[in-house]
Amino acid sequence: MKAYLATSNPGKIRELKAIFARSALQLVTPRKVSQVVEDAESYTGNAMLKAQAMAAELHARHVAAAVLADDSGLEVDALDGRPAVESARYGGVEIAWPERRAALLSELRGVPPYRRTARFVCVLTLLQPGRDPVSARGEVHGYILEAEAGSGGFGYDPLFFYPPLNRSFAALSEKEKNGVSHRRRAGDALLALLAERG
Ligand code: IMP
Repeated sequence: MKAYLATSNPGKIRELKAIFARSALQLVTPRKVSQVVEDAESYTGNAMLKAQAMAAELHARHVAAAVLADDSGLEVDALDGRPAVESARYGGVEIAWPERRAALLSELRGVPPYRRTARFVCVLTLLQPGRDPVSARGEVHGYILEAEAGSGGFGYDPLFFYPPLNRSFAALSEKEKNGVSHRRRAGDALLALLAERG
């Protein structure tokens, strides 16, 4: 099945394409993805807003195809689970990623390692014309470092330490990250749900 990706985030596009590469979902990157106001209170709500906006755009172009949307975020226990759905805007909408990561380090200054536990969460929503939407969630647990490590990945990856591989997400190869990430887990769960419903 062909599915249009409702995201313009290059990191997400790269990872989702690799994760679904040998699956029943053939992901297509649209030429243009319109910006959506992500004002839902949950990842599932925001993923649905993104999927619906893309589906409306395809409908207007008379394209009948499925849409896949990703909403994800970082939840830090010492911040009562923030920034979560606000992850893309944490520290200010317009700031660059190094500043956003610095803002997180600054808010966590003085928090000892054992209290820096965190998780990445990803919800993937698939909208197919004429069928009920399907959503699946994936999580991966780790902790927030006291300084950046690694040069790969995107977003918060240099700050997210993953104990089973003893490195930050930014220090993993793409293959390693895609083998264990929240996005991979959500992808596997989504494919299982699709196989179940046939
Ligand atoms: P949204 O899904 O558009 O709301 O954005 C989620 C935010 O969390 C973005 O700022 C991402 O950069 C960040 N994020 C989501 N997944 C990852 C990841 O795998 N690594 C690092 N940051 C991520």
